[in-house]
Amino acid sequence: MEGAFEEQPGRGSAPEPAFVHETAIVEPESRIGAGTRIWHHVHVRSGATIGGGCTLGKNVFVDSGVEIGDGVKIQNNVSIYRGVHIDDEVFVGPSAVFTNDRFPRAASLDWEVVETFLRRGASIGANATVLCGIEVGEWATVAAGAVVTRNVAPHELVAGNPARRLGWVCRCGRVLARTTGGLGSTTCSACGASFAGSSS
Ligand SMILES: [Zn+2]
Repeated sequence: MEGAFEEQPGRGSAPEPAFVHETAIVEPESRIGAGTRIWHHVHVRSGATIGGGCTLGKNVFVDSGVEIGDGVKIQNNVSIYRGVHIDDEVFVGPSAVFTNDRFPRAASLDWEVVETFLRRGASIGANATVLCGIEVGEWATVAAGAVVTRNVAPHELVAGNPARRLGWVCRCGRVLARTTGGLGSTTCSACGASFAGSSS
């Protein structure tokens, strides 16, 4: 375990240090925030940055140059390749898949990384696939097994292959409305959050 830990000098109470399981590989010059837990057989490459309070489940791979925010949970068997950006409080379910190449060829000479953005609070369901070049908006939910081929709006719920709108979800994760149209003005019955509505 040679990765660098974030230092927070001058704090009255020291933050809980990161936990890295003995079977994990954390390369030098990677950064892992306080309170983050790195479980069995995780591989964090040099140059990766992981925020505080995250959980990386068994067999997660984090590529060089990837930046992961705070409070992110990544379940077992997920590879976060270069070009995938993960904001705070994102949830990635087990065996979800990301890509970073639009024209994959084993012998491609001019390969370019195509970026993917997971915005704050978004959830990616188990075994879902998110193609590259896509933005999943804040607090959106991608259902288990979905194949996401277009951008997902904030709070949108998508499912299927190719993923289509099923409705809208609250920040708390509950379904606000099951409609393929826009979200009207509504209040979440679970947490009381209110929404002014969406035009799309
Ligand atoms: Zn709610």
